[in-house]
Amino acid sequence: MKKTFFLFTLSILILSCNKQKESSNPQKTNEFAIIIHGGAGTILKKNMTPEKEAAYKAKLKEAITVGYNILKSGGTSIDAVEKTIHIMENSPLFNAGKGAVFTHNETNEMDASIMNGKNLNAGAVAGVTDVKNPISAARKVMTNSNHVLLSGKGASIFAKEQGLEIVEPSYFFTEKRFKSLQKIKEKEKTALDHNSKSAFYDPEIKDSKFGTVGCVALDKKGNITAGTSTGGMTNKRWNRIGDSPIIGSGTYANNKTCGVSSTGWGEYFIRTQVAYDISAQMEYQNKSLKEATKDVIQNKLTKLGGTGGVIALDKNGNMSFEFNTAGMYRASMDNEGELIIKIYKN
Ligand code: ASP
Repeated sequence: MKKTFFLFTLSILILSCNKQKESSNPQKTNEFAIIIHGGAGTILKKNMTPEKEAAYKAKLKEAITVGYNILKSGGTSIDAVEKTIHIMENSPLFNAGKGAVFTHNETNEMDASIMNGKNLNAGAVAGVTDVKNPISAARKVMTNSNHVLLSGKGASIFAKEQGLEIVEPSYFFTEKRFKSLQKIKEKEKTALDHNSKSAFYDPEIKDSKFGTVGCVALDKKGNITAGTSTGGMTNKRWNRIGDSPIIGSGTYANNKTCGVSSTGWGEYFIRTQVAYDISAQMEYQNKSLKEATKDVIQNKLTKLGGTGGVIALDKNGNMSFEFNTAGMYRASMDNEGELIIKIYKN
């Protein structure tokens, strides 16, 4: 009797293991792959010149090619993500590093984060004003400290001690971002004259352009890394921190599921835990990457009133762009080197 019971239990166990194997789809779409974004928002063809469009596409291509080459030659997804983000941080086109937006006090305060899907280690910085490449500071926090998130002056001191490049805050000045701040302040003044809330909470924010940058990579060893870097939102004040340095909101990576980088109205991404929720839906509900990203962005985030999008890449090399705005600067490359670059919805 005991023996029959033992055999019965064993066969149930074997059956359920097989079922799990099937549903987790061991088939790899790509041995390695990389996906990036340069922000989502009201990006419309009618407001774009051919030169501007070409400049964005060229920079996205330059950035993703750097990461792709690292992965192709057997490098780590951590290196691929960091070096790819450097290219976008060093360009004035994106709201990160050199192109960071201005705060209400006419300064630039940057946030960044990175996460390693192999061991769930993560690092982030918030409100840094003089670190040339905030994503590198985030990486140092992840690898060379006992912490996950450092902020403000302390984060800068740490970055300097780690040998990272520190620049004068004026390095981050760009005419275009300064003008955008003045325009918003003008609107804010009018709004305040009419006794309404400050422009930072103006419902028009939902139509903003969010120029944050992000990258997710899967390397040949099956390790996923995700990273995000931003200047935050124009006219932010009171040392506001968005979703980009928040692990689980702006960035998440887990080798068991996927890696995600977000861009959009940060407060909503924090409230919905966008990046972690995508991973959790895959882990606990056995959803595909596409199903999980679609539910979180088009259903949960949208219902709450949030705007923006994500890039995501799963452990089998499947990739997904999902956003509820008119456009998102984005690109992907699979292990064959096939490059996709897009800006608008279709
Ligand atoms: N998510 C960023 C923030 O709220 C903004 C962006 O994506 O551009 O700080």
